[in-house]
Amino acid sequence: MHKKNSKTGNAAGQPAGPGESKQLTDMFSRSISYLRISLTDHCNLRCLYCTPQGDGAKLLSGELLSFEEILRLVRLAVSLGIKKVRLTGGEPLVRHGILDFIRRLAQIEGLDDIRLTTNGVLLADYAEDLYAAGIRKLNISLDTMRPERFKEITGVDAFAKVWAGIQRAKELGFSPIKLNVVALRGVNDDEFLDFARLSLTEALQVRFIEFMPIGAASIWDKKNYISSKEIMARLETLGELLPVEARRMDGPARVYRFAEAKGGIGFISPISHHFCERCNRLRLTSEGKLRSCLLSDKETDIKTILRSGASDEEVVKVIVDTIINKPKGHNLSEGKGGSCHGSMSRIGG
Ligand code: SAM
Repeated sequence: MHKKNSKTGNAAGQPAGPGESKQLTDMFSRSISYLRISLTDHCNLRCLYCTPQGDGAKLLSGELLSFEEILRLVRLAVSLGIKKVRLTGGEPLVRHGILDFIRRLAQIEGLDDIRLTTNGVLLADYAEDLYAAGIRKLNISLDTMRPERFKEITGVDAFAKVWAGIQRAKELGFSPIKLNVVALRGVNDDEFLDFARLSLTEALQVRFIEFMPIGAASIWDKKNYISSKEIMARLETLGELLPVEARRMDGPARVYRFAEAKGGIGFISPISHHFCERCNRLRLTSEGKLRSCLLSDKETDIKTILRSGASDEEVVKVIVDTIINKPKGHNLSEGKGGSCHGSMSRIGG
């Protein structure tokens, strides 16, 4: 853990003075400011590349971290320098009580930015309340715009609901709205141009995500993997992709746009162009494990620590230690399977 500069509070949770901002940095001088929380491993879709085969045993409600426990952890993490939180899962909107939880989360002083990743199935119903609760930034997963194919990929005939959710989110003024498209050769690669065209007329950022080898039971196969470079080459048949300058809280996407387009195109390339050297993330899994890298199974069981009556100082030490031990990078490269055996829904995609 390093002090970054004289304005940096120390990482062990000492209060910062007035006007001072804290920064948590790891051994490799990466500033850790972003916490991704899997609120549940339950999901209302069964995407063929994400759901463990046989559906996997789901956590019981007592095995999930309670909202109280999550709020306590977020308060402590924010006191250390976390500024941005993403709620994900599983499907976060299936967790009972999520709206009240978000309202309470939004009251945490120093937490500047709360975002949500959803599959969109319940979005039309929840959008207004989510907006009122304080969410403005949405990532919506959508791998196809063809209703039949949607059912094949997700196991559920819900394309119309997701599409209605996207429209509702636009009407209400959520911004940015990012559509996450996992790029799967032989599954949805014939729709890449359709997704790209959507960015011409809609103020959406369409993001192509490289397929990652996650979860021992997933159907990951290198034949389905398709690199961002190849996708980009295909999209450029529509016109030149102009780079968009990254903003401070932007994630790992490299963003482009077509001239005159209302929206943008993002590429998230964890395999071909990994962003480990810029990774600012810490993760809290649905079963209460702190994890500093999506693609490494090293975790700390913070739920047991919380439930054994640990003091705030003890919990802070665990958070700091997890960050100190954040791996320098993952070893995945194109065409190779991975070392992450946890399921995406428990870890939080
Ligand atoms: N249920 C929410 C949703 O669908 O957005 C949040 C959880 S989901 C696990 C988050 C994202 O992870 C989705 O965009 C999903 O497509 C993506 N994802 C899941 N497995 C993946 C994999 N093996 N490689 C790349 N992305 C994956």
